[in-house]
Amino acid sequence: MVNRTLVVALLVSFACLVPTTVAQGKKLKIYISADMEGVVGVVTGDQLSPQGFEYNRFREFMTEEVKAATEAAFEAGATEIVISDSHGNGENLLIDKLPKNVTIVRSWPRPLMMMEGIDETFDGVIFIGYHTSTNNMSGVRAHTISSARLADIRLNGTSMPEAGINAAIAGHFNVPVIMISGDDAIVKEATDLLGNIEGAVVKWAVSFHAARTLTPETAYDLIREKSRKAIARIKEFKPYKVKEPVQLDVRFKAYRPSELLSYLSIVQRTDSHSIRFVGKDIVEVSKFLEFITNYEPSLEP
Ligand SMILES: [Zn+2]
Repeated sequence: MVNRTLVVALLVSFACLVPTTVAQGKKLKIYISADMEGVVGVVTGDQLSPQGFEYNRFREFMTEEVKAATEAAFEAGATEIVISDSHGNGENLLIDKLPKNVTIVRSWPRPLMMMEGIDETFDGVIFIGYHTSTNNMSGVRAHTISSARLADIRLNGTSMPEAGINAAIAGHFNVPVIMISGDDAIVKEATDLLGNIEGAVVKWAVSFHAARTLTPETAYDLIREKSRKAIARIKEFKPYKVKEPVQLDVRFKAYRPSELLSYLSIVQRTDSHSIRFVGKDIVEVSKFLEFITNYEPSLEP
């Protein structure tokens, strides 16, 4: 049998080490979804895929940005952090560079896409390296889910950036988004949609492929500061909810995806390039989106 007085004494002394922004001794779970287009200095494909000559360097910057948010969150009282590597192949983050006590979701497909691993036990969501939607006239690498294939994604009639779709997934589990980092355009797009969340602007978009950027060290400091602030304000944020059932409209850049998808009775073709799917909730919509952007009959194994 364990000496209860000793256990209580140990718990109390441990609790004293935890910073005071959050009620002491309470669990505080943070989910971090990390993309790459909004990472400091990223402007073109040269930084975004293994074929790009600067990719390996920028994986380090992406990892450092996530690490900055993670360390700040732990300092501010987070007790558990799950990170999803949510760009490209889902294998960008250098996992040996991240703190010991986090877990990382990698690769695809995932039913909850860039939010895989979230559930109702989390207290807040941080978006790192995010970018504007394909409908936004500004923002570095503005696109929604697939820059090559999709021209619009709407939830209940409203065009959404990935930040909006992902906020709705978190909202389904009653978890609010508390902070976002990226260029000035996505911080504006996200705060217009989600309200007064903390925003770390690490660069200013000039065009789709140009920006004026901070240096990495300054960006990490800013992300640390905003993450800390967001957790201090965590009680102020409301989960972002979309009305159910959820109507999803997808506009493809090519003609044939909408034609073929319309063979399915659950899909309605709304014009030459567009389809509609109605899901009972955003989780069903997320699975449908992941399916239509990943499925091909040549899949192996
Ligand atoms: Zn990305």
